[in-house]
Amino acid sequence: MIAYLRTVFPNATTEFDVSGLTCAPLRLSVERMLDQPEFVLIWARVWEAEATRSLATLARELCPHARILVWGDAPLFMPQYFQREPFDAAVIGGDPEIVISDYIQSVVKSDSPGHGLCFKADSGWKKTALGRVLDPHHWPFPAQDVIPFNDYQTARENRGKPTDDLSFDVSRGCPGGCEWCVEPLKGGRVGRWRPAIDTVAYMLNGAGPYQQFQCHGPIFTGNRTWIEEFVTAIRQAGSVVPFKAVSLVNHLSDERLVSDLASVGMQAIGFGIETLTADSSQRRLTPKVVERRLEQVAELLHRYGVEPKAYTQIGLKGQNRDDVLYTHRVCLDLGFTVRPTGATPFHLLRHMTVDQLDQLDLTRWDRKSFFDESCGLSLSDFYRMIVSPGTFFDSVARAA
Ligand code: SF4
Repeated sequence: MIAYLRTVFPNATTEFDVSGLTCAPLRLSVERMLDQPEFVLIWARVWEAEATRSLATLARELCPHARILVWGDAPLFMPQYFQREPFDAAVIGGDPEIVISDYIQSVVKSDSPGHGLCFKADSGWKKTALGRVLDPHHWPFPAQDVIPFNDYQTARENRGKPTDDLSFDVSRGCPGGCEWCVEPLKGGRVGRWRPAIDTVAYMLNGAGPYQQFQCHGPIFTGNRTWIEEFVTAIRQAGSVVPFKAVSLVNHLSDERLVSDLASVGMQAIGFGIETLTADSSQRRLTPKVVERRLEQVAELLHRYGVEPKAYTQIGLKGQNRDDVLYTHRVCLDLGFTVRPTGATPFHLLRHMTVDQLDQLDLTRWDRKSFFDESCGLSLSDFYRMIVSPGTFFDSVARAA
């Protein structure tokens, strides 16, 4: 986003606070607001919505002429929450870089905003046409000066993540349609890929102080032609570039795919298991995962030295305690690194009124802490599972 805004508005002064990452004091945001910016753009996840409202209220007070816009997961899941004072606009679709830059241009020209927004008009809140998407040739790469590496590293260590990853968008959009997931809202329901040649050229420049690239996108292996171009381009450069990505687990039972990607530097691959179904006579709770292929996936990834990371959810609709325990036992036995989260039903927020949303404690809607007792675990067991599934199961085994 930042790199894109700099390109479109080369003469504008753009200043950024990454307060969520670095826990920067509010004073820094206050200083920026006292400089009377023309626009205040706030990126927010659902659990940050209340804080976003407070920050926007402060902005309205300190820089009353600024247009205040919010973008990110929060307005995608619950746009109605932001259709009130002190906000001027919220991004509800399309690629945010082009939606926001076009919004700024429309304000400068005193035009109505054209796409991807709900916005405040004289006659009340309105919606524009659907958001436009950017040509993947123009997807920005990260502006590395915005987050000093030391700040990033401290935040990463505080989150218990093992590696320093330079994340950049490789693909956007997903046809998966999982109701809780933000990807289809964020990138649309059709997969789009940055040209492989641009992707590889960027990666061959090196990751600087970072250990590896995170090739960000919902289903990295969703376009086999792209994968072939990507692998070929790295091989032609005679190089190996460490990276990790996320994909669908079923794709990873293809040996050629795994061996090709491992040969050019893939270190780890994440995939959503969500939940398995303990009772095999029942309909699968996660249709996108074919359980009988997991053993083959595990064998291939281990053989080619790629770390398998299984994303699981605790508290999904229809899931019971047996399903939760079975899922994690299977994943651990297969040697997967397991990354559990609370099953956060973000899709329910869209249908709530603003009053109902205000009654919720939205700060709870964080995937690492969203607990619903119907999952059958105690709060203590839930957190033990989230923090360290392997240790949790060891203690269960010892107690048995
Ligand atoms: S969970 Fe995965 S497959 Fe489902 S919509 Fe999100 S990115 Fe797509």
